[in-house]
Amino acid sequence: MYLKSIELTGFKSFGKKTDIVFASRISSIVGPNGSGKSNVAEAFRFVLGEQSMKSLRSKRGEDLIWGGSPTLPRSNRAGVKVVFDNSLPAAQGTAQAGTRLLDLDFNEVAVERIVYRDGENEYLLNGTKVRLKDVIRLLAGANIGGSGYQIISQGEADRILNASPRERREMVEDALGLKLYQHKKAESERKLEETASNIDKTKSLRREITPHLNFLRSQVQKIEKAREMKEMLAAKLSEYLAREHAWITSEDKRLSAEERSQETELKTLGNRANEARGKRPSQSAGVLQELKGKIIEREQKLSEARRESEKLTRELGRAEGVAEANTVMVEQIVAVPHVRQFAREVSEAISEALRNDDMPSVRVLLLHIKDRIQSFVDGLSGSAPDTKEESQQQVKAIANSLERVQKEETALAQELEALRAQITQVRDAGFAAERDLIELESAVREAQGKLGSVQNARMTIATLRQAFEDEVREGIALVGAAIHDWEKPLRQPADGGAGDEVLTGDDRPAQEKRRREIERLKIKIEESGIGNGDAVVREFNQTRERDEFLGRELVDLERSAASLKDIIVELEKTIDAKFTEGLKLINATLGDFFMKLFGGGAAKLEVEEPRLRRGSGGQSPKSDEDLMDEEEEMTEEEELYAGLSISVHLPRKKVHGLEVLSGGERALTSIALIFSMSQVNPPPFLVLDETDAALDEANSKRYADMIRELGSKSQLIVITHNRSTMAAAGELYGVTMGNDGVSKMLSVKLEEAEKVAK
Ligand code: ATP
Repeated sequence: MYLKSIELTGFKSFGKKTDIVFASRISSIVGPNGSGKSNVAEAFRFVLGEQSMKSLRSKRGEDLIWGGSPTLPRSNRAGVKVVFDNSLPAAQGTAQAGTRLLDLDFNEVAVERIVYRDGENEYLLNGTKVRLKDVIRLLAGANIGGSGYQIISQGEADRILNASPRERREMVEDALGLKLYQHKKAESERKLEETASNIDKTKSLRREITPHLNFLRSQVQKIEKAREMKEMLAAKLSEYLAREHAWITSEDKRLSAEERSQETELKTLGNRANEARGKRPSQSAGVLQELKGKIIEREQKLSEARRESEKLTRELGRAEGVAEANTVMVEQIVAVPHVRQFAREVSEAISEALRNDDMPSVRVLLLHIKDRIQSFVDGLSGSAPDTKEESQQQVKAIANSLERVQKEETALAQELEALRAQITQVRDAGFAAERDLIELESAVREAQGKLGSVQNARMTIATLRQAFEDEVREGIALVGAAIHDWEKPLRQPADGGAGDEVLTGDDRPAQEKRRREIERLKIKIEESGIGNGDAVVREFNQTRERDEFLGRELVDLERSAASLKDIIVELEKTIDAKFTEGLKLINATLGDFFMKLFGGGAAKLEVEEPRLRRGSGGQSPKSDEDLMDEEEEMTEEEELYAGLSISVHLPRKKVHGLEVLSGGERALTSIALIFSMSQVNPPPFLVLDETDAALDEANSKRYADMIRELGSKSQLIVITHNRSTMAAAGELYGVTMGNDGVSKMLSVKLEEAEKVAK
């Protein structure tokens, strides 16, 4: 007994608040036509969330509200509240131990719906406002609501017969409690769709990223290559610079030493040249002049001395002549051999002088001869013996003077000779100095040339040092501070590994080769066109991380898509299995009920051939549901669907099929079907509004039996005019309507009920 009570306030003909408390498993509502019985059935529909106005026999929400009568003004709202017993089954003593009817932690659950004149609806669970879908979901969990077979409206008993195979299948699925699985499946399908769209989105995001990522990857590869080249450059540059520095330093040292020595050499040569310059002939002109002056002076003195000597010689000759003449007599005889001797001697002397071209001697000899001749002549004329003494003294004096002069003459001649030798010597010295100077000057030029080239070499070195410093600066710009490494490894292990090699730059061609390699590397690095590339590397890493994240996301999404597919497949299997099994049970019960009702024959539900169907067209019993929940909307896509058909074989009749059934037969068949459906998965309660209206007395009795059977599984609210049915109920409610048009409820006894119903 789940259904405790229903309360109608301002709902349709129930202008006043009316509470119906259900105390029996089978309750019957009786009353005259138009008293408001069907309104009670509709109150159930309404409170369980019915959205179809047609199903509520109305056009608008307003039609559901008490419209007013002369004695009772109209209501502003219509409300229906149904109260369920939701205590734990243990307390109820049923088999479903541990599970409440409704999934709410309350022992009693009141579901309430109110409609206002403006058509606004309100739903409440235990007085708290909720959404329609919360109500629907809660009730679906308890197998309440759904396709509506649970509340069979007046004249709609054969609705399940009129329904299309597809609709029929849905009703059966609902009855079998598959709606929950359908919901789950729909939800999984929706999630799958969402996942698929996320997969698409993720894939397209990755596709968008890919070209950029590829571009960045190639950039990063270039950067890495450039970095490798830079490292190589740093190593090469470092070695090159170390060698260059060593070379420049040693070369500078060597050259500056050489420069100093060349300067000293040049100075020495310069001094020597200056000295030589001072000894040149042009420089000794004064000395020569002086010497020449002296020569002239001496020559004058010499010629004076010669003149004097000649004069004295003449005088001596004369004096001797005189003296001789004084002694001529004595000597004349002996004189002749003397004269011969003299003539011979003089002649020889003259010849000798002439041979020697010694004119002064010739002259002296001639003068001597003349004096002899004179004295001879004078001797011939004779002189006195006293004068002979005197003349001899005179001769002596003259001879002395002459000797003196002749000495002077000799000294002068010697002096002249010495002076002339001196001139020659000065001249020779000048020439030698000139020669030396020429040599020295050439040596100076050579030394200057050497110094110049040393200085040039030093300038070259200075240029190299400048270039070296530029290289260091450029190197810092290119490879950073690492370039300073060149300062450290002046000693590095040689390639052979055999000890250390002192890095020098002596091998200039090798250095030049290194420099060219470095230049080539620099150009390559420059051509790579990449700065330090940090930003690109960062962006690449970020983009790659994003791509990897998307990749993982994709894997996750695909995994969850796969698991959703699995879930769907599982659900389909479950639905399929439960459907097949449930259908079997329904068919078994259906056959049973059918035989009971018809006294034979057979009826069963059959799964049709699957066919393509589009959306949920036609007069669907679910069209109302489309409105109620956006999440559970039916798709409009085509799908393969196998509906349910009913095959009916009436006893003792050849023809079969639904089309040939009479109104009563149809009613019986549908009752058998509805009842068998509710037996497989019994709903907590069923409302049957004059479902037995078309039955004759015999069938009414069978119907009443079935009601009793049904009542053991589901709580029943049976609206009827039928006595047998009333008799099956444990409790009877009479509905009356007075002149005020207000439906009233009262508990009645069976005998009263029969009266009330009439
Ligand atoms: P029957 O036995 O003939 O099927 P019933 O007992 O089922 O009759 P209902 O159809 O439930 O009768 O009641 C119909 C009555 O309810 C009508 O008299 C109608 O005027 C009244 N009714 C319907 N809607 C309203 C409303 N909004 N306000 C007042 N009365 C209403």
